[in-house]
Amino acid sequence: MTIKSIPICISLLIMMTFAACPVSGVESGPRIIEDTQVLMGTTVRIQAPVASDKDAAVAREAINKAFKEIARIENVFSVFKPDSEVSRINKVKPGEPVPVSAEAFGLIERSVECSKKTEGAFDVTVKPLVDLWREAGKSKKLPPAEAIAAAVNKVGSRYLLLDKAKSTITFQKDGMGLDFGGIAKGYATDRVVAVLKESGISNALISSGGNTYCLGMKGEKEMWKVGIQHPRDKNKVFAVLRLKDKAIDTSGDYEKYFILHGRRYSHIIDPRTGYPIGDNVVSATVVADSAANADMFATALCVLGADGSRMADSLGLDALLIIKDGEKLKTEMAGGFKEQYGKAKKK
Ligand code: ADP
Ligand code: MG
Repeated sequence: MTIKSIPICISLLIMMTFAACPVSGVESGPRIIEDTQVLMGTTVRIQAPVASDKDAAVAREAINKAFKEIARIENVFSVFKPDSEVSRINKVKPGEPVPVSAEAFGLIERSVECSKKTEGAFDVTVKPLVDLWREAGKSKKLPPAEAIAAAVNKVGSRYLLLDKAKSTITFQKDGMGLDFGGIAKGYATDRVVAVLKESGISNALISSGGNTYCLGMKGEKEMWKVGIQHPRDKNKVFAVLRLKDKAIDTSGDYEKYFILHGRRYSHIIDPRTGYPIGDNVVSATVVADSAANADMFATALCVLGADGSRMADSLGLDALLIIKDGEKLKTEMAGGFKEQYGKAKKK
């Protein structure tokens, strides 16, 4: 269950899974070459409009290359793959500098920067808490308060030493670990955009698990449309945005969670308290130039809850927050969202 931004042309099934979703149905318009694969634990769909058979062949090849790039990124950043670079990093003892690839170092730096900007709401070192709550979801037993406090103690980008010249990182506490779940999908989307462009594609729509990138246009005069799914009604589209060369990402409490003793526990954890986010912010959508940034900041805004709007304004983020107001849902638009997309209609 999810609220996400979804390209508006995706099947109902996918709309049930993601929040920011491409919008469509039976549509006339340009011929579209597309492919869908399950990667990074989610369904990734790439579409490219074409004008000729020659264009179609170029698009097919570009899309194939793009999927290979996502698979490569998964092999670097997945915590579920024992041979990934990140799994190797996570095994290193505290105090020992571990050499990391330029790519991983770059993403760690960006994550640390996001942590600073969001006052710790986003933190790539959240792994001890993610592991603890994942286990709770599986065993259906809440972790004891002491275990949560112990895990909070191991979380914090400030305990991560980065040496850019040597391209090493050092964990300063025992039991620390990195979890790229809040940025890797967005980063992969940005890499797909780069691969498509290098392959001669200037118009495409990429959607993966709640993050979408609208590259160029769908048709000569037609922009890509992305629907923000209603957080509490998977069959409803909350708003439709028309975007060009922009990423949109939605994070929310309804996407991945478990229910225990009647309470909903999100997969997004507040690194400062050690607990999954409350249900005050139902979803946060960020529109940005980079999908990695949209991914990180949407997660951070969910953690920030009532402070999300203020933070988004101060950081100049174009964001839409759907917030619980008693039994009702209310929306807050931050940064330039209202000005640019505030008139977004439901269709
Ligand atoms: P999704 O992956 O479903 O699109 P998000 O982008 O919000 O959702 O990322 C959630 C994932 O990020 C979690 O599954 C976990 O791996 C990781 N995570 C959870 N809480 C945080 C946090 N506060 N900061 C950084 N990463 C987080
Ligand atoms: Mg995210």
